[in-house]
Amino acid sequence: MGAAERRPMHAVWLIALWLAGPGNLPLWQRIFALEGTLAHRLVLLAGLGLVVTAATAALLSLLAWPRVFRPAATLLVLVAAFNTHFMWQYGVVMDPTMLANVAHTDVREVRDLLSLHLVGTVLLVAGPPLWWLWHRPVVSRVWWAQTGRNLTGVVVGLLVMVGAGLASYQGLASLMRNHKDVRYMINPLNSVYAATRVAADQLPPQVRTLQPTGEDATLGASYATQVRPPLLMLVVGETARAENWGLNGYARETTPALRRWQEQSGLVNFPQVRSCGTNTQVSLPCIFSPLTREDGGDKTPTQENLLDVLQRAGLAVLWLDNQSGCKGICDRVSHASTSELNLPGLCEGGECFDEAMLHGLDERIAALDPVRRARGVVLVMHQMGSHGPAYSKRTPVDRKPFLPECTSNTLSACAPEQLVNAYDNTIAYTDHFLGQSLQWLQQQSTEGRFDTGMIYVSDHGESLGENGLYLHGVPYAFAPDQQTHVPMVGWLSPALQQRSGVSIDCLRQQAAARLSHDNVFHTVLGLMDVSTQARDNALNVVAPCRS
Ligand SMILES: [Zn+2]
Repeated sequence: MGAAERRPMHAVWLIALWLAGPGNLPLWQRIFALEGTLAHRLVLLAGLGLVVTAATAALLSLLAWPRVFRPAATLLVLVAAFNTHFMWQYGVVMDPTMLANVAHTDVREVRDLLSLHLVGTVLLVAGPPLWWLWHRPVVSRVWWAQTGRNLTGVVVGLLVMVGAGLASYQGLASLMRNHKDVRYMINPLNSVYAATRVAADQLPPQVRTLQPTGEDATLGASYATQVRPPLLMLVVGETARAENWGLNGYARETTPALRRWQEQSGLVNFPQVRSCGTNTQVSLPCIFSPLTREDGGDKTPTQENLLDVLQRAGLAVLWLDNQSGCKGICDRVSHASTSELNLPGLCEGGECFDEAMLHGLDERIAALDPVRRARGVVLVMHQMGSHGPAYSKRTPVDRKPFLPECTSNTLSACAPEQLVNAYDNTIAYTDHFLGQSLQWLQQQSTEGRFDTGMIYVSDHGESLGENGLYLHGVPYAFAPDQQTHVPMVGWLSPALQQRSGVSIDCLRQQAAARLSHDNVFHTVLGLMDVSTQARDNALNVVAPCRS
């Protein structure tokens, strides 16, 4: 066998070695920082290094066809490089929900994430192997010889992987048990695994036909005698965490407007609310799902959601989106996006501040089906909120009480207090937006158009550098409190209090109970007086406070 003919397997193992080594620097850093003796950690590094190299070589062998290998290897190397950047910058790991989140990210969010640092990391991690790969000749063989070589490569790779795995079994097993997130740090296998899982989720079309929810939904007795229709605004926040919420006792006053509403007009703050997921992709459908998180509300929806039930009962439903869309939740109800409006002072560079959702709202309500609107309206506002990493872009210049603020996408490069300033400004702006929304709702009520109320809840929290973590999306089982503890408030106009029989004093006394996104579905149905088997009053937050 000549030297030229041995090359393809050289390429497989050299690329695998590069991917396992420089392509996994965050993983090796993480392992090296673990507790234990130096010898113990070195053995762990060597064992896992060999397992990762061999597994990657097996995967590459599978792809070692003349016209497939270079593009496929290039893709894997680039994926490893991008992952390395995001792990370094934000402490995120690549699991199926994170990949699904990436796949649903729009251009604007990608632009927020781009930075010089990213270019540098990609050049460093992907440059050398790609330069080498594209400068070597491609050897062609007859198909059966190629098949034989590839299969041999796969088998050898798997044998080495199993051998190395068994040899360092004890260390690896305890590593995987105690640090579950480490498995999602293995580049690029984490992304290959995640892509397979996400693709499998999309596959069977019969599963994607949604099961109906609340087919028996009807409007309750309050509608028979109503003078005005009810209007409930459900504001879905973005990336707001409970810890920085003024009403929850944060050292800074980030929620002055809501505090006024709390002191003067019956707003109720709920300090103990847990999100369903740690990213929008999981939390958003879950908030509207009839299922609790435990029963699968955090999985890809297979059932219709809250909005379908409200609409089926005969109400008008409108979804206003100032972010990257409703992830399929609003597909069957009226919906509109405000992020592409061109409102002077409110919109800039293809996105708008959240107040844009209040612009022309009366007209949007007036345009809803008149028969349904006369019964009642549920209005969802999907905020841009505190979407990172470019927090400073989420707030208008005249609404930045905390300065100086971090203006870079490279969060770890900012002074921690400037990062917190930029983030707290987004909370303060959400407070302002909610104050404006409450004012609009109160006006609807005093002018006799609707009996109004509001529920606000954030989709998930955010890490601001605690334990080296930034952004969100850490797998739920080991997510830090900052990513799952979210703010929530509720407000009912006197007319809606009377109509629903809910006592605000009682609600305030119960507000510190442990709640979660699981409660939203049932509480909205309760407040809107929609009866259905799908409604569980045990999860309806206002149920114990009805007279
Ligand atoms: Zn989100």
